[in-house]
Parts: sequence; C-alpha cells; structure tokens
Amino acid sequence: MNTSPKILRVAVNVPLAREFDYRPPPGPLPAPGSRVRVPFGRRTETGIVLGYADSSEFSGRGLKQAAAALDEGPLLSAEDLALIRFTSDYYHHPIGEVAASALPAALRQGKALEAKSERVVLLRPPADPDTLEKRAPRQAELLGLLADTGTAGVDVDRIAAVMPTWRRVAAALVDRGVLRIETGAASDVCDSPRVGPGPQLNSDQERAVASIAATDGFGAFVLDGVTGSGKTEVYLRLIDRTLAAGRQVLVLVPEIGLTPQLVRRFEKRLGFRPAAMHSSLTDSERLVAWRRAQSGAARLLVGTRSAVFTPMPDLGLVIVDEEHDHSFKQQEGLRYSARDLAVVRAKRRSIPVILGSATPTLEVLKHCADGSYTHLTLPERAGGAEPPVLRLVDLNRQPPEEGLSEPLLAAIDRHLGDGGQALLFLNRRGFAPTLICSNCAHIAECRRCDSRMTVHAGRNELCCHHCGSVRPIDTTCPECTGNMRPLGEGTERLEQRLAARFPGRRVVRIDSDSMQKKGAIDTALEMATSGEADILVGTQMLSKGHHFPKLTLVGIVNADQGLFGSDFRSDERLAQSIVQVAGRAGREAERGTVLIQTAFPEHRFWERLLSAGYAGVAADALAERQRSGWPPFSHVALLRASAHQRGDALRCLEVARAAATALGFEALRVLGPVDAPLARKAGRYRVQLLLESTERGTLHAALAHLRPLLEDDKSARRARWSIDVDPVQLF
Ligand code: ADP
Ligand code: ZN
Repeated sequence: MNTSPKILRVAVNVPLAREFDYRPPPGPLPAPGSRVRVPFGRRTETGIVLGYADSSEFSGRGLKQAAAALDEGPLLSAEDLALIRFTSDYYHHPIGEVAASALPAALRQGKALEAKSERVVLLRPPADPDTLEKRAPRQAELLGLLADTGTAGVDVDRIAAVMPTWRRVAAALVDRGVLRIETGAASDVCDSPRVGPGPQLNSDQERAVASIAATDGFGAFVLDGVTGSGKTEVYLRLIDRTLAAGRQVLVLVPEIGLTPQLVRRFEKRLGFRPAAMHSSLTDSERLVAWRRAQSGAARLLVGTRSAVFTPMPDLGLVIVDEEHDHSFKQQEGLRYSARDLAVVRAKRRSIPVILGSATPTLEVLKHCADGSYTHLTLPERAGGAEPPVLRLVDLNRQPPEEGLSEPLLAAIDRHLGDGGQALLFLNRRGFAPTLICSNCAHIAECRRCDSRMTVHAGRNELCCHHCGSVRPIDTTCPECTGNMRPLGEGTERLEQRLAARFPGRRVVRIDSDSMQKKGAIDTALEMATSGEADILVGTQMLSKGHHFPKLTLVGIVNADQGLFGSDFRSDERLAQSIVQVAGRAGREAERGTVLIQTAFPEHRFWERLLSAGYAGVAADALAERQRSGWPPFSHVALLRASAHQRGDALRCLEVARAAATALGFEALRVLGPVDAPLARKAGRYRVQLLLESTERGTLHAALAHLRPLLEDDKSARRARWSIDVDPVQLF
C-alpha cells in the first residue's frame, strides 16, 4: 500500500518566483536534477525536479500529476542545483527561469539528452591543395582540421569550436564529394599532436603560477597584467596541472567571437581540442558540448557567460579571462554576473578561481585591497616588447576635419610608410550621429524613442540605435525645407575619409554593421592579422583580445565622449577602453604609439592616465567612490519599469518605493522613481528606482520583500518591471 506518495517540487520556466508542486508521474520517482513534463495552465512545460516534499499547500485542491519523467537520472547534481538556488535568491529572479538558463535550449525544450551527434568524414583529399589554399582559404582551413582523421571523421562540435561558420564552408565541399556529414559520434578521438611546453616563464609568471598552485581549497586570484604580459601562459600552466590531477577546468571568455582563437591556442599547447560554448553554435552543437562537459568527457570547457552554469563533475579550476568585460553581466531577463557566479561556484566547491585582466574592475581591486582576493601582477610584456607610448593631441590647437586632426593623419602616414599598420578607435558606428537642418537646426529624431537618428550613408538610411527603426534620409527639413546635413562622425565616415586621404591603402572597418554577414568578421580579422589591411577603423569590437603583429599606431578619435559621463563608472570605463585598445599597439618588435584626440588636455584624468596608467586612474576612482559611497563601497539594485503610459510605469515603482520605505531599514536608501536616461524607448516610457545600502543583507531583505509584492500588485501589472542587482549600467 502506497500511503504517502512524495510530492515533487519543480522549477518551471515561468516568470513567477516560486516552486510548483506535482504528484510524481507514473513509474520510478524522478530524481532531483532531472526533467519532468508537467501540465501548466493549459500548456505543458518542461520542469526540473528540485526536491521532494511530504505535503503541499495545494494537496486538498487536486494537486496535478506530472505527465512524464524525461530523464533516467539527474542532469544536474545537488551542487548544480545549489548554484541555481543561490542565483535565484541573489538576483531575486524566478528559480524556474534560472534553471532554464542553466540548460542548453534543446534540453529546455524537452529534447533527449543524447543529442543526435554528427561527424564530418573526409572522403578524398583535394586534388590541388595549393590552389585551394589561394582560391578558397576557408575550405582549405576546414580540410586542414580534418587532415589525418581517416574514415573515423571528427565530431562536428569539435569543428564548430574553432570554426563557427564551418557548415557554410562545408556545403561546397559536400557538393563536390570531398566531405560527407554522417550521423553518430566519431568513433575515435583523433587528438592533435602536442606542440611543445611553451616558453620558459619569467619570474612574475612563475610567482603567479606558484601562488595559485599552492592554494589548497578556495582562493580568488586577480591576474593583473597588461596585454601581452603572458596571462594566457599562466592559465595554460595551471590548466595543465589541474588536468594532470584528473580534474576539469572551466574558462569563461567575453562574447566577442574570440572563443575559436583561444580554443586553437589551447589545443596547440595541450594536445587536445577543448569543448567550446559560444553564441555561434547551433542548438544541437551546444547540447553536445554541454553533454560532454556534464558527463566528464570534456576535461576543458571554454565558453561565454552562460557556460558558468554548465555541470562539471570534476571541476578543479575556474578562469575568467578579461574579467572587466561587460558581457559577463547579462542585461536582460536573469541579470546575473557570470564573473561573480564563477567566484561563488569556486568558493562552494573549494577550488581556485583566476580573474584575469589588464584593467581589473574597481569591485575586484577593492577585494584585493581588503585581502579577500590575492592580487598578482605581471607588470611587463612577456618577451620584452616595450609598452606603447600614450600622447595627447589637443583638438583646440589642431581642429579636426571630419573627426581627424592633422597630427593624427601625419602619424598614420608615417607609420604606414614604415611598414606598420594603424587602428582608429571610435565607439560610434554609422556615418554621423546626427542629421541637422543647416537652416533652422532641426534634428532628425526617432519617433519611438527619445533619441536622435544616426545617419547610415551606405544603406542610405536613418537608423535608431536604440529601437532599430529605420527610415529614408530626409534631404530637406520637415520644418523649414532647408537642407539637412550630417553632423559629427561615426566609423563609416572615418572609413570614407581615410580611403580618400590614403588612396591605394586598404582600409577595413570592423563594427557590427560591416560584420553582419556571416564569416565577415573572420575575413576582416584575417586581413588585419596578415597585414593585408593597412588601416583598421572600428568600435570596441576591435579593442579586445586580438593580436595584430604589424600594428604600431592606435588613434583614439573621440576620447571626450566618456570624459564627462553621468554614470559613476565613466572614468573607470573610459580608462579601460583606452588601455585595452592601446594594448593592441606594438605587440611585437616595434614599439607602439597611441594618439588620443581630446579637447580637454588639462583634465586630471589624462594627467593620471599618462603618468600612472590604469592603476593610477583606478586608485583615484576608487577613492572617489569611497567618498561618494557608490559601489563597491555600497550595494545597489535598480528597479526598472516601462509601459506605454508613463503613469503606469511610475505607479509600479511608487508601489515599490512605498513598500521599501515602510520597511524602515535605517541602512537603506531609496532614490526615485525618476525617468530613465533614455526616457522613452520603442514607444515605452521607462522609469527607475534605485535601492542602495552599505549592508548587502539589508538590500537583499528589502528586495525579497518587494519581489512578491510586485508580482501580486494590480497596478504593477500594467507595467513591465525588473530587478537588477549589482547593475553595470546605472543611468
Ligand atoms: P596575455 O594573455 O597577457 O595577453 P600572452 O600569454 O598571450 O599574454 O603572451 C603574449 C605573447 O608573449 C605570446 O606570444 C606568448 O607566447 C609570449 N609569451 C608569454 N610568456 C612568455 C615568456 N615567459 N617568454 C617568452 N614569451 C612569452
Ligand atoms: Zn528608436
């Protein structure tokens, strides 16, 4: 007799901050961490069993039964579930949505765990490899990945890891009968030969490796080293040690398409190809990579933000590369920081975590100052390359024409003449940020946002960078019929100007407009790396991680954009982006030069940056944050609300404000609600409320109180609202 069947506590992917109770499905009791199909309202959803209960508050009213168990055993361990629970509690986000983030889309949709795997088999080598290399370098590259694999073939996820666009490239080869794509996993893992042990570490690198290797249990290490100082070499030594000890390694990287490069470098040195998770994978490729990590078959996983949730049963080391990068913070839905969760995960597992950067965030530097993280510095470039020289160009004395001053143009001329390459950095895409009437100064604005339309000359369109709406460029002013003209410059205009000024030189623009076609970024980066491109023009897409051997000159076109920002993070961010892009210059034999165009050469920021580098600016900014009580000296959360009527958005946050104030917490400051800096976006009005406290516990207690209140409040239902804990974008 079965008197008390257990009740399942299930995380269902819906925006409600609670667990749901179900009677177990027929058959064996599903284990915590496994998936069940459950009825939800009129739909069926896939849920994850979090645990069991003996009774439910809904028992009396006909508790529903789960329809079916989807897995034979748990997909997520108790430890994985604990991380999900922590994330849900810390970010005050529904646990069902958090659990869904931890799974690849295919599993979220209820598909089978064992993905239909595919492998690529080389049927015959190309007749003339040299011609192919010239005519179709991508095809040649793909064939290179398959060389010597015989009839066993190679698993597609291992190809996708280093060549995200491989399917397009493979199509032509399949048509010609060179390749075949077969179902089923490759029978034999054909590992690439190990290239070598790598360079002898210098003493700073040795010290860093020794310090991290000596940790027993948890330790957070900040590897603070300029670009090219050999951070990756330090990672490699520690990865090697960890793998040799029979444990797995997780490496998190920013979302900038660099994963394949890093995967290749790791492969060369370690002798096998790591599993990779990045945004270009198809759902089934992602599932295969996830499954390999979760089963323990993949020993090393390199992935972007969401990879932080991937189950890894033998995890022994976590590395977050480019820790300062904002892509580690998700800006919508579950607003989590993968960097912070990486630290939490390492701590719960008692293993070391390394946070690497040339420009560590102030949050991380404060932990170093407190002694809770260990600060390891690599002050010099490995292999002895000199750091770049930073110089200001005073725009008051050298007025720019279409964004470029004479000294900068002359420097480009000189560097190209000496066989170098130049990179111009401008964080603004399009032709011009403004279209203005020459007669009455009317400005073309977005009809759905409180913002200006950007001129895109190539597409002959005005485009709103906030909501994406487009319309034809007005030639005459709708107010006075005067002439409309573009004002200011974006990357497109710079590209045009440079091409005109340096005829015969190859100018390549790299921004999200020019890189829309699949594979465009690979081609552009290839041209940049080989030196085929003489001048690179780009947004922050160009500033990170890449290694361009011939690059000797970097020009920062409009540094003042960030100098008077309203966000308390402006200085930190400006210094980070300049130092990061400067790091591209002169990584090999030639010393690099960085020219910064500014109309405020006397500003203290420049004096500090030029004399004391990023560390100087960071020390100043940290002192300033302490005086003003901003993070990391306080903890903040931002409540945002938006609605078609401003009043609805405002009322929602007024409810929150009243409830927060009524708590009477002395250590809690409630600021707002006020209009968001972009007060209307895509037709919705946006307001925000800031909660701030010097005590993290107080802030969380307040949020825990507010969340259910807003879920239940009728007036809040007229608005879309969200909670952002530790926001990176405040204003
Ligand atoms: P980072 O990750 O800090 O940008 P890398 O690890 O990529 O730096 O190193 C930059 C370059 O210097 C690479 O080409 C690397 O092989 C080389 N390198 C790193 N450490 C050493 C060393 N100890 N001796 C010689 N070359 C080194
Ligand atoms: Zn708009």
